[in-house]
Amino acid sequence: MMGAQSRQVGRMLAAMALLAPGLMAVGGAAARDQRVDYTVRFSATPEPGLDITLALKGDADGVTQINLPDRWAGEQHLYELLSNFAVQGGTVETPDSRPATRIIRHRPGQRLRISYRVSSAWQADPVIGMPGASNPYRPVIRPAWFNVLGNGVFALPAGEITRPARVRWQIPRGWTLASDTEHPDLDLKDVVDSVTLAGRDVRLTSQTVEGGPLRIAVHGRLELDEAELVRAVTAISQTQRRFWGSRGEVFLVTLVTIGRAPGAISVGGTGRDDAFAVWTVDDAPIESLERLLAHEHIHTWIPRRIGAMAPGAAEAEQYWVSEGFTDFYTFRSLLASGIWSPEQFVEAWNEQLLEYAASPNRATSNREAAAGFWSSRDLQRLPYTRGAVMAAWLDGRIRATSGGRHDLDDLMLAMQAEQRTDPTELVATRLQRLAREAFGVDFAPLVEAVHTQGADALFPQDGWGECLEVTSSEQAEFHRGFDVAATQRNGLIVAGTVEGGPAWQAGLRDGMRIVRRTGGSPPDPTVPLTYVIDDSGTERVLSWLPEGPRRFSAQRLKLGPQGSAPHCVALLAGQ
Ligand SMILES: [Zn+2]
Repeated sequence: MMGAQSRQVGRMLAAMALLAPGLMAVGGAAARDQRVDYTVRFSATPEPGLDITLALKGDADGVTQINLPDRWAGEQHLYELLSNFAVQGGTVETPDSRPATRIIRHRPGQRLRISYRVSSAWQADPVIGMPGASNPYRPVIRPAWFNVLGNGVFALPAGEITRPARVRWQIPRGWTLASDTEHPDLDLKDVVDSVTLAGRDVRLTSQTVEGGPLRIAVHGRLELDEAELVRAVTAISQTQRRFWGSRGEVFLVTLVTIGRAPGAISVGGTGRDDAFAVWTVDDAPIESLERLLAHEHIHTWIPRRIGAMAPGAAEAEQYWVSEGFTDFYTFRSLLASGIWSPEQFVEAWNEQLLEYAASPNRATSNREAAAGFWSSRDLQRLPYTRGAVMAAWLDGRIRATSGGRHDLDDLMLAMQAEQRTDPTELVATRLQRLAREAFGVDFAPLVEAVHTQGADALFPQDGWGECLEVTSSEQAEFHRGFDVAATQRNGLIVAGTVEGGPAWQAGLRDGMRIVRRTGGSPPDPTVPLTYVIDDSGTERVLSWLPEGPRRFSAQRLKLGPQGSAPHCVALLAGQ
């Protein structure tokens, strides 16, 4: 999701140094002196592991604190995978109550060489069904490959996270390695926020897009055509980099397959600032990967290059921008790049609009939703769905106010330009201020009403000509009529059938066994669900409308008569 701004600040400092060449040499030497040099060597014996050394200058007061990997993304005690901790140039102790800390005493400013070994958290290749396999945050180090996130393997000196750093990898001959630690101008933050994939069978492609490398590294067999995936991701990247006027960007995608479970689609990953780590089932549809990667690539700019995120707990209050506007531009760039047809664009929006409309938290204020962000899946999705609709609303108002001369794109680019000279203004604040100052659109009342009362955001109905029709209708919530989770836990023996509900009326009863589903389009309540069930040894086919008792109003898009014409595609794609 979020990444920090350290990379951006680092680039600005580099630019300033170039303007003052006299200072650059001094800055360069000082930077080298302060740099933390990591070396990582894979070894297969006695068990697969990574031997890591850090070379650095100890603190001037003669005491240097080293923090080992500990907690991250719900994982705890990550230091337990570290062993053989040793120091040259000082003596080391572990404070009693802080097992993730090492205190090194040395002569003031002494050069130190710290070494340790990281063992694998996995004794077999992660395969879906194993606990944690769909998001292997702990280091995967196998005899012929490894995939590690910086948070799980790198020990850091306490202090400035923007301290310069360098990482060198030593891997067996014949292996391929891809890491975003290979990107230029690293600091400690980048080292922690890194992903590395290496192995004998890692396949790496590199494309130059708008003057910068886009690399894709894959481990494991994928059913889809990898060349097609590379083409799609390259097209997405090209569209996005051109839109933002960004040349020389670096981006890495690592993709590891985790087998499959019949009927389950698992595609997920972790954003790494200038990279994205994907873990996916091997039969993942290309559409899921395209959408995931388009979203993650947009995060290069949103939010960090258009405004600042609030620190600490308040960060979640701005997720409607950082995730919602990112989804808006995910859809736009997939259409603009030609990856999506206008039909697919409309279908994606309809899913988003339905999810938002059907959310039991639709009227939850942004303030409350942010506070409860980690407590429910539905609250986590709200900033994405509601935020995307808020972006669409704002886009519609800018187009209407400017008579079609401007749209949200112009506002985004204006924000990016401001961010270069003032990186401190909060992204939501800048969005509202610039909308008013530069485009005469008062966005603040909607933002405020959503923030304090959970007011409805609406997709703009007008201004689409013959390109798009936007309707609104009452509909029932999607409900299968029985308790799906309990039924799954129960070995597919039906549980929690709602008495008197549509499934019940079709004949479904607790205790029947589900053989398979043969019809339905979850979460669409208008398409009947059809199941083959085993009723005490007799197979029967039951079918019903998956409607729950709750009704709500939902917006829906439909391509207009000219919807697929080039001028309409251009309008929908914001061009
Ligand atoms: Zn995101």
